[in-house]
Amino acid sequence: MSELHQLTISHAHQLLKEKKISAVELTEACLAHLAKMERKVQACVTTCEDVALEQAREADKAISSGKIQPLTGIPALIKDVICTRGIKTTCSSKILANFVPPYDATVIEKLKRAKTVILGKANMDEFAMGSSTENSAFFPTKNPWDLNRVPGGSSGGSATAVATDEAIYALGSDTGGSIRQPAGFCSVVGLKPTYGRVSRYGLVAFASSLDQIGPLTKNVTDCALVLNAIAGHDPQDSTSAPNPVPDYTRSLNTDIKGMRIGIPKDYFVEGMQPEVRDGMEVAIKKLQGLGAEVDREVSLPLTRYALAVYYIIAPSEASANLARYDGVKYGFSSQDAGNMWEAMEKTKQFGFGAEVKRRIMLGTYALSAGYYDAYYLKAQKVRTLIIKEFKDAFEKYDALVTPTSPTVPFKLGEKVDDPVQMYLSDVCTLPINIAGLPAISVPAGFVNDLPFGMQIIGKPFDEETILHIAFAYEQATDWHKNKPPISKISQPS
Ligand code: GLN
Repeated sequence: MSELHQLTISHAHQLLKEKKISAVELTEACLAHLAKMERKVQACVTTCEDVALEQAREADKAISSGKIQPLTGIPALIKDVICTRGIKTTCSSKILANFVPPYDATVIEKLKRAKTVILGKANMDEFAMGSSTENSAFFPTKNPWDLNRVPGGSSGGSATAVATDEAIYALGSDTGGSIRQPAGFCSVVGLKPTYGRVSRYGLVAFASSLDQIGPLTKNVTDCALVLNAIAGHDPQDSTSAPNPVPDYTRSLNTDIKGMRIGIPKDYFVEGMQPEVRDGMEVAIKKLQGLGAEVDREVSLPLTRYALAVYYIIAPSEASANLARYDGVKYGFSSQDAGNMWEAMEKTKQFGFGAEVKRRIMLGTYALSAGYYDAYYLKAQKVRTLIIKEFKDAFEKYDALVTPTSPTVPFKLGEKVDDPVQMYLSDVCTLPINIAGLPAISVPAGFVNDLPFGMQIIGKPFDEETILHIAFAYEQATDWHKNKPPISKISQPS
């Protein structure tokens, strides 16, 4: 048997159900392993051992009275942008460094009802703005496959924690790729659900029309199990959808014969790493070998505007959302000021990092009188066209397949001084948020021991199809079985 922290959700669930292990044992194993791993990777901002062990004891009680659900007793790490009552929620920002939310996000309430175990909070780029976790105000997280490289971002802590077996699963958030890109960079499974599928209540807002919470897991089955637990309508979030939640595990079978898969050429961008392109060829052939009808002549020409549209819309929304951090209501407050205005100014000056300030300035500019029509309104119009382009494509295809990112993980520090290069690492994931579609990244190969992911994009609210294709692909390949060598450390060092 694997060591306990190495288990998947479904395997751990089986063992808990058969009472071969207890939730407390599983939680203790994860906490002990996490402590060792953290010295190397720094994926966590906060660990909450006491809360975790208390929740594990509660889970064991539920199990012994016969009440076990798929996530009961399963230890998870939560991206630090999701509010957890009584547990610090910092967004990896100085401005919220001491913020303890008085309430739980809806996803956390749901996980608590399922009696999962919360180990702590995962590091991220400040306010989810970034692609490398280097924008955390506290410390960068390291890629477990190469400690000199980035784990991706902004959910880099969540992806690293799953890759290293610190946690059995994690939650992330995705505004332009922040679940899928780090999933690809760490070789785990990451799903961004359709906009509205999962409640955003209690998710600290970055760009409200793009943000979604989703799972990061060790395999596709676990991904379906977590989605089952967190999806659904929430009266507290007016943008959450009333569509019924299917049992996502039902669609997991290996028969994808006749499924129509489009490969949009526009995602094989200039500047893409040739080895990733070759690796994607192999992955696509695998799908063909499984009987899918693959069409390579798909063109989505508006894709090339998605990055520009995103960098108008996301900062615009962010500039409005981040206005609330004024040092008055909560969070860091500068005391070194002569009057209220100066206090607000200094609170933001010292509380926010450089990238967050850059986004606020971009957004404020794009929304200002005189520029609104030229930038924000124009971007919204192009957004509508991008949505239509995808809609037309989905008349012909069940799913679209692309690389998750154009490259394997880059070096720490490599792109910090060049924001545009950093922004480009999300070219394949951003358009999906613009259109509100669901997409999953699955491990698809390695280049010199560094992983890359394959992205499968679906129709709105058709997470079932992308999970189905992802599952068939996973069963036919071994990529997901590879573990970063450092995760196997069993002695403290
Ligand atoms: N990297 C993108 C950005 O910095 C996306 C971030 C995200 O999805 N939260 O905006």
